[in-house]
Amino acid sequence: MPVQIDIPASEVKNLKRNPLILENEQRCSRCNQTPASFYEVHRLQYRIGKLKHLYGKKYRISKDYRLKLSVCETCFQSDFLTHPEVMDRDKSPLSKIARFHSIAWTIGGLMAGCGFLLLTPIVPKTGVLSSLRQIWQAPVIMGVIVLLLTWLSQKKYQSKVLRAIEEVNPSFQPLARAEVRPNVLLNEEDSTATALEIILNNETWAESCAREHHWQFKQITTTENDKLNRG
Ligand SMILES: [Zn+2]
Repeated sequence: MPVQIDIPASEVKNLKRNPLILENEQRCSRCNQTPASFYEVHRLQYRIGKLKHLYGKKYRISKDYRLKLSVCETCFQSDFLTHPEVMDRDKSPLSKIARFHSIAWTIGGLMAGCGFLLLTPIVPKTGVLSSLRQIWQAPVIMGVIVLLLTWLSQKKYQSKVLRAIEEVNPSFQPLARAEVRPNVLLNEEDSTATALEIILNNETWAESCAREHHWQFKQITTTENDKLNRG
């Protein structure tokens, strides 16, 4: 049964550059394997006081922070297959490859986007800049080539990683990342208010980690979890 851990505001409000790290005797937070020297990362915001704003939601205080949960190498590798965009930005070779792919996707997309931008009224049809309209295909083609090469490179590395996982564990099935729900707090004074709810499927790991830090936790049914997601 999934377990929900409630993280109080006191643990989150002074984090600044340091992440909130959840570890448990070097065991993986998903599959219990040891060692668990890699991390699953969630980039979150600590928010206080919702303000009415014309353009979307604004908060009186809003600070970025990261939550890191320890995972084993296999679970870390499985993230490269399923969620390469949210991997830890550490110095491990897989993280570097994921980051390189992410940058290449952005550059390719920007180049193609620039090409199409040349066809819009932003570039005047007459005058010095008008000649740029004639070469709009060049950045589009270059952008598409970059995107294609990135896609091929990503596929190549993903099959390599999949082979490596299957060699260690032929029946491996990727396990879900933790579900995280940051709460918007009403005021700063109440440091016991729950700033973050973390839901983990690994019941024993979650309970033992919560006990060690003296955090509140509870088991939740799948229906309860579905209701919360819908709400
Ligand atoms: Zn694992």
